[in-house]
Amino acid sequence: MRILSAFIPRRQILSLRQFQTNSIRRESISTIHASMDATEQSLRQSLSEKSSSVETQGNAVRALKASRAAKPEIDAAIDLLNKLKLEKSAVEKQLQSTISSSGNGSLNREAFRQAVVNTLERRLFYIPSFKIYRGVAGLFDYGPPGCAVKSNVLSFWRQHFILEENMLEVDCPCVTPEVVLKASGHVDKFTDLMVKDEKTGTCYRADHLLKDYCTEKLEKDLTISAEKAAEFKDVLAVMEDYSPEELGAKIKEYGITAPDTKNPLSDPYPFNLMFQTSIGPSGLIPGYMRPETAQGIFVNFKDLYYYNGRKLPFAAAQIGQAFRNEISPRQGLLRVREFTLAEIEHFVDPENKSHPKFSDVSKLEFHMFPREEQMSGQSAKKLCLGEAVAKGTVNNETLGYFIGRVYLFLTRLGIDKERLRFRQHLANEMAHYAADCWDAEIESSYGWIECVGIADRSAYDLRAHSEKSGVALVAEEKYAEPKEVEKLVINPVKKELGLAFKGTQKNVVESLEAMNEKEAMEMKATLESKGEVEFYVCTLGKNVSIKKNMVSISKEKKKEHQRVFTPSVIEPSFGIGRIIYCLYEHCFSTRPSKAGDEQLNVFRFPPLVAPIKCTVFPLVQNQQFEEATKVISKELTSVGISHKIDITGTSIGKRYARTDELGVPFAITVDSDTSVTIRERDSKDQVRVSLKEAASVVSSVAEGKMTWQDVWASFPHHSSAAADEQE
Ligand code: AMP
Repeated sequence: MRILSAFIPRRQILSLRQFQTNSIRRESISTIHASMDATEQSLRQSLSEKSSSVETQGNAVRALKASRAAKPEIDAAIDLLNKLKLEKSAVEKQLQSTISSSGNGSLNREAFRQAVVNTLERRLFYIPSFKIYRGVAGLFDYGPPGCAVKSNVLSFWRQHFILEENMLEVDCPCVTPEVVLKASGHVDKFTDLMVKDEKTGTCYRADHLLKDYCTEKLEKDLTISAEKAAEFKDVLAVMEDYSPEELGAKIKEYGITAPDTKNPLSDPYPFNLMFQTSIGPSGLIPGYMRPETAQGIFVNFKDLYYYNGRKLPFAAAQIGQAFRNEISPRQGLLRVREFTLAEIEHFVDPENKSHPKFSDVSKLEFHMFPREEQMSGQSAKKLCLGEAVAKGTVNNETLGYFIGRVYLFLTRLGIDKERLRFRQHLANEMAHYAADCWDAEIESSYGWIECVGIADRSAYDLRAHSEKSGVALVAEEKYAEPKEVEKLVINPVKKELGLAFKGTQKNVVESLEAMNEKEAMEMKATLESKGEVEFYVCTLGKNVSIKKNMVSISKEKKKEHQRVFTPSVIEPSFGIGRIIYCLYEHCFSTRPSKAGDEQLNVFRFPPLVAPIKCTVFPLVQNQQFEEATKVISKELTSVGISHKIDITGTSIGKRYARTDELGVPFAITVDSDTSVTIRERDSKDQVRVSLKEAASVVSSVAEGKMTWQDVWASFPHHSSAAADEQE
C-alpha cells in the first residue's frame, strides 16, 4: 500500500479528505460481495449446518451407546450419522470446487506459472541476479532471449509512440538530487507501510501479510462462516485504503504474526521506497536513485517547449531504469527493485484537451471497467472508446486517444485481448489534482496486474517544480487580436501593515496577495460596509484584523496580447518488465510430442517480439547443405533478421522442439542445394521455396509485410500432418 496524500504525485496514496469517503465505499463493496458470491455464501452456510448436524448426531450415538440402548436403535442412529457425514463431505467438495473456479483457487494457476517460469529460467530468458552468491530478492538479469524480447518491445514502443506522434525523446540520469524529488513529493510520501518482526527485525509489507492471511482463510479454511468469508473479502477490497492505524488494528485483531518465526509484529509505519545516496565525494549533496523517469522530463519542460517552437500540445518520452526499494518483493518479475519504465508526458492546454487523431482510435472496442461498474459489483465490459469519451466516462479525448493507442500497442505485442482491461481509478485512488486515471491491467497467474498507468495529472507536476525552482514552467497562447480582460488587483499598503503587524507583516501581505477573486471581492465589500474585517493568515495560524486603509482591492481592465498558463500533462507510464512477463504467460502453451509421450513447450510470440525470428538447419550434416546454410544465413543477416543455425546432429523433430521453446516463429530446413522448406511454428505447416528466395520470404513474413497465409498460397506446401511425417 502506498500512503497517498493530497500532495503525492504517484502510487495509490489517500488524502485525509479521501479517507472520509472510505466508509461509503466499504459499504458498497460489502453489497458487491453479498451479491457476487451467493453460491459460495450459501455453500458455507450449508456446510456449517451440516457440521452441526454431524456433531449433534455423533453426540446422540454416543448417548445411545452409553445408555446401552437396543442394538437396532444404535445401528439406525449410526446409519443416519454416516449419511450426514456423506452429505457434509459432498458440500465440502462443492465448496472447494466453487472456490477454485471463482478464481480464489490458486493451484492450477501456480502449476501453470511454474511451467512458464521453469522454461524461462532454463532457456535463460531471465536469471536471478548474482545467483552464484545466492541472489538478491527483487533483482533479475535478462539472458540472451530475454534481452532480445525486451529490445524488440522497446523498439516497437519507440515506433508506435515516439515516431508516430513525433515525441521528443530524452535520456536523463538515474541519480537525482534531493531537491527534485522533494518538489515532486517523493521524499516525504513515497512510502509503503512496513512491520517488523519484534525479535529478529525482519521486515514485511504490512498489507501483504493481511492479504495473505485473508486469502489463505478464504481458500483453505472451509470451516469459516459465510459472514466471516464476506468480511475477509471486504478487507481484501478496501485494505489499500487503510491508514497505518487501521491496518495495525486488523493485524492485531486477526492475531497475525511474523510468517517465518511466528513472533509478534511491530505497529505498521511508513518506509520510503527510494534508494538514498549522496552525490560527490563530500557526501554533502543528498540524492536518490530515481523511482520513475517522469521528473527528468518535467524539469526539462522549458527547454523542450522552446525546442518545439513554443507550441502545444507536444509530448516528451523517456525509457530508462527506475529504482524502488520494495520491502519484500514477491511475484517474480512483476515486483522488482530495479526495472525499466517507458514514460510519456503529453503537455496540453488545459482548456483544450481534444486530440486531432482521436478518430483513428474512436471505433475501437475493448474491455473497460469504469468506476461505476466497479462500485456496483459488475464486471468489466466491452465499450466503444468513442462512446466512452462522448459520454464523459473517459474525461477527455487526449486521455482517450492514449488509452486506444496503449490498447493497440499491447495487443500487437501479443497480449490476449480477452485478458486485458482498462480499469478506471476509483475517486479515492486518485490524488485530488488528477482529472482521471485508467490502468491497463493484464490478467496473469498472479491475477489482474497494473502494467500501464494512464493519468491526466493536470498541472500538478509543472507547478510543483515551478514553485520549488523559481523557474516559470509555463506556456503562452498568443492572441490574434489583443483581448480586453478584467484583472483583479490587490495592493497591500505596506506602510500601514508594517505599523500594525511589524515582524509578521510579510505573512499578512503574502496571504492578502494570495486571495482568489471571490475572497478578495468579499473582503472589499466588508471593508466598504464595516471598515474592518477578520482575516485568517494560514502561515500565522490565526486571524488578524484588516482595516480599510491597509489594502486596496479593485478590478482593472487591461489589454492582453497572450495568455500564460501551466500546461496539463497526460502521462502514460509503462512497466516494461511487467508487460514482458504477462506476454510470456499469454504466449506460453504446451502440445503433445509426435509420439504423444511428452508435453512440449511453445512460446507463440508474434514475429514482432520473438527473440530470434528464424532458425536454419541442414537436414543432415554434409558439406553441400552446410554451404547452402551459410548462404541463407548471410542473406538473413543482410536483411536484419535475427537467426540461429543449428547444426547438431539431433533429429529434426527435436530441433523444432528446441526452437518452439524459444518462440522462434520460422525454421528453414536445408534439404537440397536448390530449395528449402520453411516451417511456421504454430501451425507446423511448411512451404517449399527456392534457396535464393528463402531469406526474403522469411524477412517479409517476420516483418509483417506478408502473412503466413500469403506465403502458404504462393508456394508449394504441405500441412502439419505431412510435416509430422518428416519430423
Ligand atoms: P507507478 O509510478 O507506481 O504508477 O508505476 C508505473 C508502472 O511501473 C506501473 O504501471 C507498473 O507497470 C510498473 N511498476 C511499478 N512498480 C514496479 C515494480 N516494483 N516492479 C516492476 N514494475 C513496477
